[in-house]
Amino acid sequence: MDIAEKKRRFEKLKRDIENCRRCSLYRTRTHAVCGEGDINADILFVGEAPGRNEDLQGKPFVGRAGEVFDQLLHSVGLTRQRIFLCNILKCRPPQNRNPLEQEIRACAGSLDIQIKVVEPKIIATIGTFATNAVFQKFDLVPRKISQIHGKVIEVATPFGRKKIIPLYHPAFAVYNQENITILLKDFQVFREIQ
Ligand code: URA
Repeated sequence: MDIAEKKRRFEKLKRDIENCRRCSLYRTRTHAVCGEGDINADILFVGEAPGRNEDLQGKPFVGRAGEVFDQLLHSVGLTRQRIFLCNILKCRPPQNRNPLEQEIRACAGSLDIQIKVVEPKIIATIGTFATNAVFQKFDLVPRKISQIHGKVIEVATPFGRKKIIPLYHPAFAVYNQENITILLKDFQVFREIQ
């Protein structure tokens, strides 16, 4: 897909997400958070859902977890400009409660379009919810994040062959600094794989 077509499809997707009423989260959102970054990126990172700061600013990972995420990216020479970053849910669940099954289902089509348009080689899933949702999307047998974090899982998908890399959520390191060591080690996979 050429870059003009990618841009056109992304603009349309953004409008669709901003007007989306497929689940009840539109009632409580300030902004939908579509995602951002390089629409040609080799790596698409997918997190769980916007939190309070993301909802207010309309951007993904801008709170404390976002600071940790940036630190992790920089540790392997990456920046937000070189990746694409989004979430499985584009709207914030009230009080940051866990995403509901029906919300994940209602939002799945937007992530499909993002995968189709960006055409990433790698889909890195951030946290348990994103990992489970992506595993389910691609008919992979569910696994515990503690058993698969930092591993590369090759899979044939309707969008072509992809490498799935499950990661712990950076929030895992916000309240327990020692966990940053595990995340830093897992992120090394992006050095080896590029
Ligand atoms: N946590 C997420 O999973 N996504 C965000 O955008 C922010 C925090």
